Amino acid sequence: MKDVWKKFDETEPSHSSIHHLMAVYHLHQKNGYARGIDIANYLNITRGSVSITLTKLRDKNYLTEDENKFYHLTEQGQQLVSSALNKRHIVKRFFSEVLQLPAEVAELDACKIEHLLSNETGEKLICFMGYYLSEKPEVLNFRLGFQQFKYKCQSVAECRLCESDCFFSGKEISKTG
Ligand SMILES: [Zn+2]
Ligand SMILES: [Zn+2]
Repeated sequence: MKDVWKKFDETEPSHSSIHHLMAVYHLHQKNGYARGIDIANYLNITRGSVSITLTKLRDKNYLTEDENKFYHLTEQGQQLVSSALNKRHIVKRFFSEVLQLPAEVAELDACKIEHLLSNETGEKLICFMGYYLSEKPEVLNFRLGFQQFKYKCQSVAECRLCESDCFFSGKEISKTG
């Protein structure tokens, strides 16, 4: 585990690349095509910067550029987009519906990690949400209990969850923080 963090910055393709591929996906959904200019406008960045990233993504076979300079996702690119979108969506729902975080926080934090999570974690989260949103009596109880629960986090010796100094020393932590 000790060297894992080093790989975060090298994750391929990068977070930025994934957003370029997502832009191609969304533009195809919306307009049926995606040109360099559309992608630049969608991402609100310069055409020059978009073109550098798109070239790299084309070389790695995540997308193709046709003779009219329209971009298309390859199967590999499409898989990457689907997987990142699924993970973002399920993480967002977990953050907002289970942890009861505000929508903007849930959305932003989900965006930050969508490309870093393994598929295994994504699948487990989907499974967990399926259970959490079910009408099983024990789940209804759990949801109610969690809504009323406040966690006191004061000293490492007592809280058993924090590892160094207590994260929220002295504060009561409820679902709303
Ligand atoms: Zn993102
Ligand atoms: Zn603590």
